[in-house]
Amino acid sequence: MSNKKNIENKVFPFLGSRRFLVVLGAGESGVGTAILGKKEGFEVFVSDKGIITDHYKEVLRNFEIEWEEQQHTETKILNADVVMKSPGIPDKVALVVKLKAKKIPVVSEIEFAAKYTNAQIVGITGSNGKTTTTMLTHYILRQGGLKVNMAGNIGDSFAKQVAGKDAPLYVLELSSFQLDGIIDFAPHIAVLTNITPDHLDRYEYQFENYIASKFRITMNQTANDYFIYDADDEVITQYLESNPIRSRLLPFSLTRKVENGAFLEEGNIKITIDNNKFIMPTENLALEGNHNVKNAMAAATVSHLLKIRKATIRKSLEHFQGVEHRLEYVLKINNVQYINDSKATNVNAALYALDTMKSTTIWIVGGVDKGNDYTELYSLVNEKVKAIICLGVDNSKIINAFGNCVDIIVETQSMSEAVKIAYKIAERNENVLLSPACSSFDLFKGYEDRGRQFKAAVREL
Ligand code: ADP
Repeated sequence: MSNKKNIENKVFPFLGSRRFLVVLGAGESGVGTAILGKKEGFEVFVSDKGIITDHYKEVLRNFEIEWEEQQHTETKILNADVVMKSPGIPDKVALVVKLKAKKIPVVSEIEFAAKYTNAQIVGITGSNGKTTTTMLTHYILRQGGLKVNMAGNIGDSFAKQVAGKDAPLYVLELSSFQLDGIIDFAPHIAVLTNITPDHLDRYEYQFENYIASKFRITMNQTANDYFIYDADDEVITQYLESNPIRSRLLPFSLTRKVENGAFLEEGNIKITIDNNKFIMPTENLALEGNHNVKNAMAAATVSHLLKIRKATIRKSLEHFQGVEHRLEYVLKINNVQYINDSKATNVNAALYALDTMKSTTIWIVGGVDKGNDYTELYSLVNEKVKAIICLGVDNSKIINAFGNCVDIIVETQSMSEAVKIAYKIAERNENVLLSPACSSFDLFKGYEDRGRQFKAAVREL
């Protein structure tokens, strides 16, 4: 039996004869949606313009789901009652434009899957910090004994979990692309970690469009829901001034007191929700850096709302060991700390990484530039960076930006070379930080590959 939600008043009900589901893109979210659609009685067709991996082909065969690859058979696809589009496919591709012109709903996996579960949802979005905050929140809730699943851009897709091992509570990491494809989706608790320019190529290079996309997380919330956000982020606070939202606001801040929400005072995180208070010294947090104080505030606020015991929240924040490739402490060699922050694929993430460095740093940076503006890094680089090691096919922008700030700036095109040079330059008590501020596809398969190559090179020193 499906535990379908009461969907009568929904804008987008999968009712009546709407039974043909087309899934565009056969990655984790696409295949998960296909499985769930099949379970819910849809006729399902999966279409991928690229090559589908052997693993997913096998899964589709096992579930007897029809698929095609390296093409989109339009005649068939344009007959869909509903289409699930994978987040990697932009809205402007011709097929999607045609579907929309025919008024066929094109939704994201999150929208589709949420229809088929009664679970309460914590949705976490933002430009940076999504994965860390999602994993930290999930970890605390688990430690608190709740039956809670984690999905979104992490692990098994939300749809697959709803079809298989559904749970009464989910913590979902949500990208703006997932949010672009929602119609009715409404998390009970929404978290917005921050908004800085990213992925602007998908938003007509208009920052406003990207901001609006992030705020879609609140779009269907009601007064019974909660919105937890960074009140130090001017992009967020300015948006809220002119676009009031219905859910209850719980801001977090490092710089000012808030009545309800989280703030920092004399080295303590203080959270108040309706006079119920939580307090914890930041020095006990397992994760370092101001950005992680914010992530901890967000995760602890969610946990406090969901009535996890204070002692459990504190203990969890003391023990959570962080996430691979996010300011991951790799090794100390000759008293030099090597740090893997390969996931820093934009300037803001690198800014927080540099801000976290407590001693002189050799900074490995570069890759595919996403229209980066490096000016906001100048003061931190002047203060902390002794040498820059560029790691990219085209390093000219970094050299132009920082040539005058540091004495040593070296170009490299392989991780082992970059790490060896860093090793030569670094002296006792200094850091070697990989925090590229760029994406990785010029020299690596992805940020994970880049981070693993870094760690391997460090271990070989
Ligand atoms: P996302 O899933 O949003 O990409 P991650 O948790 O994977 O976020 O972290 C990505 C990068 O951003 C890492 O370099 C990490 O150190 C940095 N980071 C984490 N949290 C924050 C935050 N709150 N603000 C700014 N940068 C952050």
